[in-house]
Amino acid sequence: MLDEEDTQMLFAVGRQARARRLDDFLSQGARCGWCAHPIRLRGYVLNKVDGRVVFASYRFPGNVVLKACGSRSELWCPSCATLYRGDARHLVRAGLEGGKGMDVSIAAHPAVFLTLTAPGFGVVHRQSSTGPCQSPHASARCPHGRTLICQARHGQDDPALGTPLCARCFDYAGAVLHNAHSAELWRRTTIYVARHLAASLGLSRAEGAKVLRLEHAKVAEFQRRGLVHFHAVVRADGPDATSAPIDAHALAAACRTAARLVEVSHARGSARWGTELDVQVVQRDGPLTPVASYVAKYATKEPAMHPGLLGRILSERDLQARDLPPHLFNLVATAWALDAVPDLSELGLRRHAHHLGYSGHFLTKSRGYSTTFSALRDARAEWQRQRDGEADESATTRRLRAVGRGWANEGEALFAAAQARQRAEDKKEADFAWHTRCE
Ligand SMILES: [Zn+2]
Ligand SMILES: [Zn+2]
Ligand SMILES: [Zn+2]
Repeated sequence: MLDEEDTQMLFAVGRQARARRLDDFLSQGARCGWCAHPIRLRGYVLNKVDGRVVFASYRFPGNVVLKACGSRSELWCPSCATLYRGDARHLVRAGLEGGKGMDVSIAAHPAVFLTLTAPGFGVVHRQSSTGPCQSPHASARCPHGRTLICQARHGQDDPALGTPLCARCFDYAGAVLHNAHSAELWRRTTIYVARHLAASLGLSRAEGAKVLRLEHAKVAEFQRRGLVHFHAVVRADGPDATSAPIDAHALAAACRTAARLVEVSHARGSARWGTELDVQVVQRDGPLTPVASYVAKYATKEPAMHPGLLGRILSERDLQARDLPPHLFNLVATAWALDAVPDLSELGLRRHAHHLGYSGHFLTKSRGYSTTFSALRDARAEWQRQRDGEADESATTRRLRAVGRGWANEGEALFAAAQARQRAEDKKEADFAWHTRCE
């Protein structure tokens, strides 16, 4: 039996079929990868040489051509997020083993995989491999009379995970300010590592910079407790694309030292890394794909911790309407409130309240690490143009303007979502074809 969604979908597709536009509709959807929230463009593209119209929106239903939204959020657009995930994997991998324009000799350069976490800001429910959530310790009750013992063994999907045993004890301001300073903390960490390595070679900072350069790709991820932590690949290069004059173990030791020492002072104290630090030498004699996939997995984890945190918070009323669980609500409300404190106002906490104070990007890389997202996108667009027999972009003049966003109606949106799901299943094969072609 058809449910209401099926009926709406059939109605939308039937309408295109009656208008003899079903093929156009399907081609319109395929062009944007059945994006959930496509940008609607109207206009045409001309061949620069002979002025011929090579592409026009009127050829498509509704006189619009649809452009993918490009989101990396699985919650917002599964189709674009899938594409992003593949690109992130290629990007990280190219920096470890070469390819995509990177010399393959970098595969021999020392590299480490580093995980930096935030310190504790209060006792939270957690998963423990050794026993229950929180075992009895010295102060079994907090000053508010709440028990700090939890005998539960929380399952993977338990919504209690990461939430504090006593919300009044949890240092929300400290947590938000850690998030707000974590990008700067990372920047300083890389400087410390380089300085430390130079010193270990008996060189000054300036001399060290001539023989050793650190390149990295890093991903930010929220832990359930709402604190950002980083996973990064750090690679050491020498001058003129040679390998660095240190080995990976020295690099790992320098990362450990830097992570312990670095701090960022702010109006309410200082931000430092937590003690949970993980530094692993990237083995150069085995396949590297697992490391790249590992980083890419983090790179593409849902950035929003909750559907209610998609998009900026616009007002206190907007925040109330987001329907957030209490712990996330407290974090966002704290970021919102701290923005009004004069010596914290330059942090832009309201602008970043939906990211719990974190103002950085979720995947960043240093310039020399590997190829870029835009180079990967250009290569894909070029591949698609060649496949579709279309003109090179430099040979055309684009006269397209945005006239809206999304699908024409609920039925089309549902149909697009179903197509996107199907595509995700076919994706592995297509991704392989593209990757092999661009190698
Ligand atoms: Zn999209
Ligand atoms: Zn618990
Ligand atoms: Zn308490």
